[in-house]
Order: sequence, then structure tokens, then C-alpha cells
Amino acid sequence: MTSARLTGLAKVAVLGAHCDDLAIGAGGTLLTLCEARPGVEIEALVLSGGGTEREDEERAALAAFCPGARLGVTVLKLRDGRLPAQWEEAKEAVTALRTRIEPDLVIGPHPGDAHQDHRGLAKLIPTVFRGPPALGYEIVKWDGDLGRPSVYHPLSPATAERKVALLHEHYPSQRHRPWYDREAFLGLARIRGIECRTRYAEAFHSGKLTLDLAGD
Ligand SMILES: [Zn+2]
Repeated sequence: MTSARLTGLAKVAVLGAHCDDLAIGAGGTLLTLCEARPGVEIEALVLSGGGTEREDEERAALAAFCPGARLGVTVLKLRDGRLPAQWEEAKEAVTALRTRIEPDLVIGPHPGDAHQDHRGLAKLIPTVFRGPPALGYEIVKWDGDLGRPSVYHPLSPATAERKVALLHEHYPSQRHRPWYDREAFLGLARIRGIECRTRYAEAFHSGKLTLDLAGD
């Protein structure tokens, strides 16, 4: 399989509706990207959890998932599970994110996600970020919304293991959830790895892409 390569990747905007969404959906990708590009600028927006222990967890986790990056983290206080009723605030938050970074890549939830907060945020992203490629991560859940992603990012076995270890270390508030375990995270990564002929991978949904085939 031939891989498409993004060149000149220096600034990345990452978005999550809840603390831990980014780490679960794209933690291995963030680790890979940041280790390969010291000083890469990552600007993170998380819509809920601000002012609670979850914000502390999220800040420590994102610092660990983005080693060597110039990392900005904003955690807001929108209510979990209530995004449709807070649409204006969410839209303003995503618009404000764009004033903090002009990204080469955007990573966020995807519009087919069954959780209304994830789905709502995913629908806001292309209304604000219209230039750069956008990747929509997947989060395994009760609703059973795993579909057929179109973009795969292979993870080294070491990175996949590190992702799982960091998820366990940094989100003690989530460890009681029945799906929050090593088997779930590595299992999905293994399946996505099979689908792109590697050991492990994270997969993403992508809408619109602009190609540049003219060379470097
Ligand atoms: Zn979530």
C-alpha cells in the first residue's frame, strides 16, 4: 500500500467534545506526529470538563500525548451530553480556536459518531476550518457506531502500547467504565491495522481532500 504523505505539517488543531476523546481517538497519532516533529504546534480545544478534575486529567494527558510540542490547551465548561442546546457556545469556541491557530491539519470527531456531542462538534468543524485536511477519529462505544473509515494511520507496536499505558495512567476517573480497558483500545487498533496491512493503526473518517500531485 502506498501512503499519502502530508508535507510541511507544522500546526495542528485538535478538537474534542469531552476530556479523553482526543486521547482515545487519536492518541497514537498525536504521539507519532509529535515525536517526529519536535516543536510542532498543537492547539487543543475540549468543550466540556473545565474546572473539574477531568480538566486536570486532560491537561496532563495531552502533555504526555504531545511530547516536545508547543501545546495549547483550552478546556471549556459546556455541559456533557447537552451540545445541541449549547450550539452557539460551541460554534463560538471553534471559531475562537481558529484565531489561535491556522492549522495544516485538523483532527476532531466525525459526523457519523452516534454520540450527539461528538457528532455536533464534528458538524461544526467544516463550518469554521475550510482549508486544511480534517480527520475524524472514532471512539468505540455502546451504540455500536464503528463504520468504515477511509484514512489509516499505522502505529508502531511500541506507540500502540504507549497509548494504552497513557490512557490508563492519565484518566483514573474513567477506569470504572466497562469499555475503558486495554483490550478495547488495542483490539480496535489491531483491527484497523489489519485493514491497512500493518499491526496496529488508528483510523479516521475524512470528507473532502485536495490533492497536490505536482511534486514537492
Ligand atoms: Zn466523548
